[in-house]
Amino acid sequence: MPSLLHFGPILAWNGREPDIEMAASTVMDASYDRKRYVRQPACVSYQTFVEEAVAVAVEACADDTKGQTCYICTQALHWKTKEGLVRGCSCRGTAGFAHVSCLAEQAKILVAEAEEHNFDDDRFMPRWKQWYECRLCEQRYHGVVRCALGWACWKTYLGRPEADWVRGGALTQLGNGLGEAGRLEERLGVVEVELANETRFGAPENEILNTKTRLANCYISLGRAEEALSLHREIYSRSAALDPTDVGREVFGRLQYAVNLASSLLETKRHAEAKSLLRKQLSQARRATGAEHATFIRLRGLYAKALYLDDCASRNDLAEAVTILEDLYSTARRVFGSNHPLLRAIKFDLERAIQYDLHLARRAIIAAKAA
Ligand SMILES: [Zn+2]
Ligand SMILES: [Zn+2]
Repeated sequence: MPSLLHFGPILAWNGREPDIEMAASTVMDASYDRKRYVRQPACVSYQTFVEEAVAVAVEACADDTKGQTCYICTQALHWKTKEGLVRGCSCRGTAGFAHVSCLAEQAKILVAEAEEHNFDDDRFMPRWKQWYECRLCEQRYHGVVRCALGWACWKTYLGRPEADWVRGGALTQLGNGLGEAGRLEERLGVVEVELANETRFGAPENEILNTKTRLANCYISLGRAEEALSLHREIYSRSAALDPTDVGREVFGRLQYAVNLASSLLETKRHAEAKSLLRKQLSQARRATGAEHATFIRLRGLYAKALYLDDCASRNDLAEAVTILEDLYSTARRVFGSNHPLLRAIKFDLERAIQYDLHLARRAIIAAKAA
């Protein structure tokens, strides 16, 4: 797998505008030869990245795919590239084995048709999703398979004009794929380029805020919690100034930004500030989404967490946290089923809150005896 710490090829194709270079300079390898990339047609250098990413994905899936065939071309080996099979979704049994090249070709054809017929978002997006979601099980690809598809997607559309939405979407897929494969520094480099592009081309503010959210997530995954927090503060405050018609899903979007900011406050141990933010959001969220919506459940779970994690928590705070989490547990189990990640997170918090409460109770008994 080539290291993409140098983000050379993307830079070369983007042209040489100073803001893009600034954004990507932090991830450029010192040995990167810019002139070589500028001279070389980008599609040539990208082929290597795609092939390497596909080889890594095929290797990682080798045990699973033994003796299987591609559900698209029905062969074990791809007729042209001779690549092996992958499966990186939630398909079970003999379903869902495919060549990355076949998945990519399928997505490319569907997107081309959608563009040809000028489909609106509702009809375009299900086709665009083929770049990151399995059409059989309708779950997203993960790990190195997602990364290989991300590369294939970027290679397919990078030749388009820089302001083209599909080209921007392809860059997002590449970044998400790199993140899935644990290549976090490289993902950060891609998101920085995305943000620089969007700023340069005057993308709508809500799109910029979403990209900044991905940037903050990169910071968190790299252990840069304070930088993530300051970005989440900026995003949250900017989202209040947005024209609601700009945000798309309006209040849902803003509530999601509140969830992100609250998580970041807790991550950096600012419990009192998190509590105050969450109290304000909860009543609005209940009205907007109802008590069974995942965003409301997340907000309320974070509030319980802020209560029990606070060093100054009283036994009343801990009791309130336990009551909230018990309630959320039964709601989430009923609404999302017993295997949902949200349920696991609530269970973890509930067990911890009960432990903290027991600990505080013991301390109170010891203190009473000593007095
Ligand atoms: Zn195939
Ligand atoms: Zn699947």
